[in-house]
Amino acid sequence: MVKIGVLALQGAVREHINSIEASGAQAVVVKRTEDLAEIDGLILPGGESTTMRRLLDLYGMMEPLRAFAKAGNPMFGTCAGLILLADSLVGYDQPHIGVMNVTVERNSFGRQVDSFEAPLSIKGIADDFPAVFIRAPHITEVGPKTDVLCEHNGRIVMAQQGQFLGCSFHPELTDDHRVTAYFVHLVENYIKQKA
Ligand code: GLN
Repeated sequence: MVKIGVLALQGAVREHINSIEASGAQAVVVKRTEDLAEIDGLILPGGESTTMRRLLDLYGMMEPLRAFAKAGNPMFGTCAGLILLADSLVGYDQPHIGVMNVTVERNSFGRQVDSFEAPLSIKGIADDFPAVFIRAPHITEVGPKTDVLCEHNGRIVMAQQGQFLGCSFHPELTDDHRVTAYFVHLVENYIKQKA
């Protein structure tokens, strides 16, 4: 069974743990740098990216996370987690972890509509995925090696670049685990290649 960590400094952690377990993998709560050595892949959850960044700096986890990414380990950023992974952020000089070749804009779906649910057609995953968006970001641009997996209302809301997966929405908040299962398979394939 592959071991998938969930960065647990802030945000929607418990639901990701449940979704990983429902997808047939072992879930690990990641709170410190040492925990990264235990896992085969990492989910960066939704929450508040600025708060998470502050905590990552406080616990000295920024460089270890970049090294984890550079070693080829799969990472999946959901909502605020996508903001952490992106190598470019609209309106900011510097990215956070900055390992995935996408440009991301925060809070892009309007102030009136703080959160909403929409059925999404996601390439290779589902025709009707029930996605929950909460003050969600979107991807404004992707690099040449980044695949767009889903658009909603003309905006890119999910993309993949090799071992990096990112989405604007919260895939863990319903009992439809197909998006999490897709990441679990990605990690399983990565382990097979490594072996
Ligand atoms: N608006 C949040 C941010 O900018 C992201 C919201 C979420 O993760 N649900 O970090």
